[in-house]
Amino acid sequence: MLKLNQPDLLRQQCLVNGEWCDAMSGAREPVMNPATGETLASVPQFSEAETLQAIESANQAWQAWKQLTAKARGALLNAWAEKMMAAQEDLARLITAEQGKPLAEARGEVAYAASFISWFAAEALRVDGSVLQSPQANQRLVVVKQPVGVCAAITPWNFPAAMITRKAAPALAAGCVMIVKPAEQTPLTALALGQLAVEAGIPAGVLQVITGDAAQVGKTLCDSPVVRKLSFTGSTEVGRLLMAQCAPTIKKLSLELGGNAPVIVFDDADLDAAVAGIMASKFRNSGQTCVCANRIYVQDGIHDALVEKLAAAVADLQVGDGSRAETSQGPLIDTQAVEKVQIHIRDALDKGATLVAGGQPHALGGTFFQPTLVTGVTQEMRFAREETFGPVAPVFRFRDETEVVSMANDTEFGLAAYLFTANAARQWRVGEALEYGMVGVNTGLISNEVAPFGGVKQSGLGREGSRYGIEEYLELKYLCIDVS
Ligand code: ADP
Repeated sequence: MLKLNQPDLLRQQCLVNGEWCDAMSGAREPVMNPATGETLASVPQFSEAETLQAIESANQAWQAWKQLTAKARGALLNAWAEKMMAAQEDLARLITAEQGKPLAEARGEVAYAASFISWFAAEALRVDGSVLQSPQANQRLVVVKQPVGVCAAITPWNFPAAMITRKAAPALAAGCVMIVKPAEQTPLTALALGQLAVEAGIPAGVLQVITGDAAQVGKTLCDSPVVRKLSFTGSTEVGRLLMAQCAPTIKKLSLELGGNAPVIVFDDADLDAAVAGIMASKFRNSGQTCVCANRIYVQDGIHDALVEKLAAAVADLQVGDGSRAETSQGPLIDTQAVEKVQIHIRDALDKGATLVAGGQPHALGGTFFQPTLVTGVTQEMRFAREETFGPVAPVFRFRDETEVVSMANDTEFGLAAYLFTANAARQWRVGEALEYGMVGVNTGLISNEVAPFGGVKQSGLGREGSRYGIEEYLELKYLCIDVS
């Protein structure tokens, strides 16, 4: 069983208006450990009625929260971030238990998640308006920024802590209140974050965490005219549905959707740096992040040398239960994830690709999968079109820059892209030509609280993190004052 230093971080009820509650029906859903198949806990199955109560509480809480000074809100956010870091080990254990990632990665996620809170605690202080030059002598024109209001977040399982704080922190900093509906696979981390927010003194109703039937809770949040904004991270398919459901109430939307990240390695790249970057980008969280390398384009001249180094690095990966210190690759989240990986590999091999390493479910069983390397991949294969979301590195071969930019852009997605080259002019040229929201140059890790995270095309709307992220939770108000 899960052992925590602070046992009350294992919450099995929803946080509504500062109270821990069950569903009216008493219905509950189990939470599983993907590494062992063991049931860790269970959480309430909220439906429409409880969701409407949370919305009502949020609206009441907002009236007082928006009146606080930015400094006061920032201080409460800082207290929350400090509580999180004090509970880093417990939170990491919860993340590993319900999500599967190795403990070291989970600890890193807690620090990354807390960094958004402290960043936005500081950004709250810089929400300034402006005074415009009036075209009329008798008028003064002022622009102020005000919080959007009641916000909702629907978050995925791959970063059970960070996807919540990246949305809740800017919302609360801006003076909004937030209802969080975490993924059904990973509600325990979300509920623990709720407990820590309570301990930090964040007032009742300002941050609520509700679990339940995703479609029903989601529809209720979308339909409500009281909810003014929805921030969603997840699949493009569900993002599209939520966008349509938000149309009748013209809700503000932030969407972080699927990716199909290309990594381009040119002949002049530092091969060791490229391999390190590919490994970091591809195999983090066993390939289950939306910025994971999905297509690896390698130029002719270095193709074989790079594949050889990559194969050696893949062979070094240690698959196992994330709670074991030596593990670098945890299990996949569920059997559907394993099936998708297998379908993509089979499709490529059927169309002529070559399996260099892995390719099979791991001997550990369950949802463990062998880290896999495939070469001879082409644009006709599913790897080129769909996000694999697993520990599979598909290598494509290319001849020149024009060809590879066109292949890299040939997708409806546009989240992250990476390129490796020593040529400074090419870094700029290709960096600008790639139709992506984020481009890593000679690095495979690009995400932090200071930079704007987000995609173009069907990868989403809006940006999270950075000084731009708080704008998503602010409205501009223009005041025209007649001074005559
Ligand atoms: P994934 O394939 O990564 O699980 P999803 O888009 O299915 O991505 O899930 C991301 C989040 O969206 C989760 O919190 C999930 O519960 C929620 N979700 C899934 N389907 C719906 C839906 N129909 N309405 C609202 N939320 C949904």
